Amino acid sequence: MSLSQLPPDTLARWGVDPSWFTLPGQPTDQHWIPVSGGADSSALAILMHLLYPEVEFKLLFTDTLAEEPEIYTTLDKLEAFLEVTIIRLKPELGLYELIEKFGGYMPSASSRYCTRELKLRPWEMFLKGQIQSGQTVHAYVGIRSDEQQRLAFTHDLIETHMPFIDLDLRRKEVYAVLADTIGIPRSYDRRSRSGCSCCPFQRTTELVGLYQAQPLEFVRGMKIEKPASRDVDRFPANAMPVTEEVGLTANHLSFPIPERLIDPEASPVAWGKWQGRGEASLFGTTGFFVAYELLVHPGVGGDGVWWQGFVTFSTSLSGVRKQLDTFYQHRLATAELKGIDEDQMREELRLVIAFIEAPADLVDTDKLSAQSFTWKPGVSFAQIRHLVDWGRRSLHAAWIRQELARTVDTEDHPLSWRYEHRQGLKSALKKLHDVTGDVVCFDLYEPKEPDPEEEFDENLIACPMCSI
Ligand code: SF4
Repeated sequence: MSLSQLPPDTLARWGVDPSWFTLPGQPTDQHWIPVSGGADSSALAILMHLLYPEVEFKLLFTDTLAEEPEIYTTLDKLEAFLEVTIIRLKPELGLYELIEKFGGYMPSASSRYCTRELKLRPWEMFLKGQIQSGQTVHAYVGIRSDEQQRLAFTHDLIETHMPFIDLDLRRKEVYAVLADTIGIPRSYDRRSRSGCSCCPFQRTTELVGLYQAQPLEFVRGMKIEKPASRDVDRFPANAMPVTEEVGLTANHLSFPIPERLIDPEASPVAWGKWQGRGEASLFGTTGFFVAYELLVHPGVGGDGVWWQGFVTFSTSLSGVRKQLDTFYQHRLATAELKGIDEDQMREELRLVIAFIEAPADLVDTDKLSAQSFTWKPGVSFAQIRHLVDWGRRSLHAAWIRQELARTVDTEDHPLSWRYEHRQGLKSALKKLHDVTGDVVCFDLYEPKEPDPEEEFDENLIACPMCSI
C-alpha cells in the first residue's frame, strides 16, 4: 500500500481537522522532518505528506549505530509507503565507540552527550550545508498533544513546529495513523519509545523486554557496563532455562495459573506476610518478586490463556506494583500490537505477582554497589539477566508441578490428549535436576486504572531528538 491509495475519508477517520494547522512560510522554503524510526515521527511524516502533497518534505535520520533493529524496518516501510528516500546520516563513531572514546563514561540523565554527538551535531552540520541564503528552514517534530511537557529540540538555524499539538492529536490518533498504514513498530510491544537498544532512559520493564526479545543487543549493551570489582562475578548466567533442561519447547510450558483465575471465589493472597522479604534471610534463602502477564479469553478452552509474558522483577512488593501500574498503561496504549483493541485488552489482560524464594548462594538480590557504572542507575544488565532467568525458570517449574497436581486424579484413556499431557509433565519433572526457586505465593494484581487527566508518563526525560 502507498500514500496515494488511502481512501478519501482517511483524515476524518484519524480525527484530523486540516483547518487547525497551516503550513508555515512558503512552499519554496525548506521543510524537514527528522525521523527516528519510531511511532510519532513516522506518523507525522505520513500525515504531513497527506495534508500537503505539493510540498517537498525532506526526511532525515541520524543513526547512532546502536539503534533497535526494528528502527531500520520502520524506516524502510516509511520510504516504501511515501515513495521517498530518507537521508540517513551515519556517524564515524557509533554510540558504543563513542563511550569507549570517552573512557567508558556512559551517558546518563545528567550527561546526555550521546544526543548531542550522535543526533544534534550531525543534523546541524548537515543542515548548514543545505541552507541557501534567504531561505527559511522549517522542522516538524512529532510531539503529541498529550505530551506537551516534552522538549522539542530548537536551533538557531530552524523554525520548529509541532503539528500534532496544533491538531490536538494524541497517542491514540497517532497509532491509528500507523495501524492504517505502515503498522506500529513491533518494538513498541515492550518499550514506549524508539531509540538505541540500551538507551539509559528506559524503565526496568523495558530492559527486561529487551533481554527477552533482543538478547544479542542486550549482551552488546552488557559488555559496555563497568561493574565495580565487588559486583563483577555476582550475577552469573547460571539459571538454565527449563526448556533446555527438560526438552519441552516454550509453547508447552506456562507460568502458574493463579487460583483466582481457576476459581473466582478463591480468596486473594494476603501479601503482608511477604512484604520486606526481598533480601537474604538467616536460613540461606533470598526472596524476590516477579510479575507476569496472561492474556485470557474464555473461547480458548482450558484456563483460557492464549498468550503470556514475563514482565519484571523487584525486591519489594511496592516496587513490582508500581512497575505494573505503568506497564498496564503501556499495554492499554499498544493493544493493537496484540491484535486487540483497548477495551479487549482491559478485559483479557491478567497481571500476576509471584514471590520466589531461592538459595542465597545462587541467587543474588542485593543492591549494586554505588561504584558500578551501568546504563540504568542501581541495576546492571547482568543482574537483570540473572533475576529474569531465575524468575522464568522458577515459574516454569512451578507450573509443571501445578499442572501435575491438577491432573493427577484423572483417569483418561491412554490415547487421549490429557493422558499424553500428564505423561509429558511427569517425564519433564523427572528431568528437572538443577535447583529452581520456590514460587511460594502468587496472585492476580489489579492495576490502577490510568487517570485520563493525567499525562502518561512514558519516560520522564524522553530524548528530544532520539525518539521524536
Ligand atoms: S536513544 Fe538514548 S542512548 Fe540513544 S542517543 Fe538518544 S538518549 Fe542517547
